[in-house]
Amino acid sequence: MSKLKVAELFYSVQGEGRYMGVPSVFLRVFGCNFKCAGFGMPRGETSEEVEDIAQVVHLYNDYKQLPLVATGCDSYASWDPRFKHLSPMLSTDSIALQIMDILPHKGWEDEHLVITGGEPLLGWQRAYPDLLDHPKMAGLKEITFETNGTQRLSDDFKKYLFKWKNAVMGREITFSVSAKLPCSGEKWDDAILPNVVCEYEWFGTAYLKFVIATEEDRDYALKAASEYRAAGFNGHVYFMPVGGVESVYNLNAKSVALMAMKHGLRYSDRLQVPLFKNEWGT
Ligand code: SF4
Repeated sequence: MSKLKVAELFYSVQGEGRYMGVPSVFLRVFGCNFKCAGFGMPRGETSEEVEDIAQVVHLYNDYKQLPLVATGCDSYASWDPRFKHLSPMLSTDSIALQIMDILPHKGWEDEHLVITGGEPLLGWQRAYPDLLDHPKMAGLKEITFETNGTQRLSDDFKKYLFKWKNAVMGREITFSVSAKLPCSGEKWDDAILPNVVCEYEWFGTAYLKFVIATEEDRDYALKAASEYRAAGFNGHVYFMPVGGVESVYNLNAKSVALMAMKHGLRYSDRLQVPLFKNEWGT
């Protein structure tokens, strides 16, 4: 039986993208290939907020006690090795049983599964088939992988996804691709990989979700979108406001919605911020 290193497993409302408002189980796995320390910082600077938290990491013995951050990656504890002891290795059997426990009817109805991170398409691709084939997961119809769009799917996982999707009528697979712009602090050539994302479209729906704070971000997002289109990408493009905390989100949301409208693109909210203050487990 496979195991996954699980940062968080919780039930909430999907706050972003195509499934905004849909009751969802979130499986947040540990590990990421990026750091995104530039979010919320002046260009060229990196956030130090997590450094202060890491200094006193011994004070926290539960993921939910960790402070939220206004700059850098808002899910820092899902990949920073200094917090990895807060993410247990769980068998797929244990994960499936815990999912049943948190679902309101103790089985799948209209809820969808979000596999997020960190970056969920790193090494864990080999473990998902065991989880999704678990008898308790048979009623699941819709899955979203929330990815940064840099990881190719392995041949085995591609075969598995085709099989999973076609085994039951109405099943859907979605790749919600939050491609990282320069405001994240990551390099363009590492982050904008159109050929990788185009391949996701073979297995279901893929869309791009750009986090925007400024007009410079908007311009980079439009440049990236045209690179994806040139490579053959057909999916929707969303603009989403930066803001893991409400004060930052409130400053940005309306202007980002207006930017999206102006360019005929979709706007994605981050419902978890106004609804739940983006606390862990939401
Ligand atoms: S890709 Fe996502 S999880 Fe990874 S560091 Fe960036 S924002 Fe955080």
